[in-house]
Amino acid sequence: MRIVLMGPPGAGKGTQAKKLAEFFGVPQIATGDILRAAVQEGTPLGKKAKEYMDKGLLVPDDVMTGIVKERLQEKNTENGFILDGFPRTIPQAESLEKILEEMGVKLDAVVNIVVPRQELIERFAGRRVCEVCGSTYHIKYNPPQKEGICDKCGGKLITRADDDVRTVEKRIDVYERETKPLVDYYQRKNMLVNIDGNRPIETVFEDIKSRLRGEG
Ligand code: ADP
Ligand code: AMP
Repeated sequence: MRIVLMGPPGAGKGTQAKKLAEFFGVPQIATGDILRAAVQEGTPLGKKAKEYMDKGLLVPDDVMTGIVKERLQEKNTENGFILDGFPRTIPQAESLEKILEEMGVKLDAVVNIVVPRQELIERFAGRRVCEVCGSTYHIKYNPPQKEGICDKCGGKLITRADDDVRTVEKRIDVYERETKPLVDYYQRKNMLVNIDGNRPIETVFEDIKSRLRGEG
């Protein structure tokens, strides 16, 4: 299964990507996670990316395309992948098409998770992530069993640096301007599957699975 997960920041891409990756037995490739790991390690990529991420801006296309190309060529993508957070611009989508063509494979679908802006703001305010394994929680909608502690690995739950209200507003604006045109792009290619993301996590997951199976 080769899938792209699209949608505004906070739509639930990471949450659904993890569940789909487990269900289909393929890796989740989250470009935001790759960048955050580089920032934490203090690599040259991390230092460069941080300047953009802190401002809520997109990291340049050539940098992102290089990262994704390298990652897609790793062995564990043989049976597929869930791309989460890439592509985010038309040039990134065009590059992805070339990369997949060179690999001799095709995307099965582009899943677009739709959530209204006001709901996104609420989600950011309550998002907590594990600083060790990256698992995502929400203090109200998806709370951990023990406050502040990751259910999966016992790591500490923290608030993401770019989840403050001002940066969040900026990130949603950037999405509207630079990423939303991809909805039309993939619609024209007949690859788009629109999903109402303003429902409980399990309902959204079941809907995505049945739509990918061609039901509904
Ligand atoms: P994205 O990867 O698109 O930025 P996340 O998967 O990190 O989004 O989800 C953003 C926040 O909203 C997290 O705190 C997550 O637990 C929560 N969340 C995800 N999906 C839902 C949902 N369907 N209903 C309510 N909250 C959700
Ligand atoms: P995310 O974890 O998907 O919300 O991404 C966090 C941040 O990483 C974004 O706000 C961007 O600064 C950067 N980023 C992640 N993926 C991309 C991408 N495909 N293109 C450009 N920037 C990205």
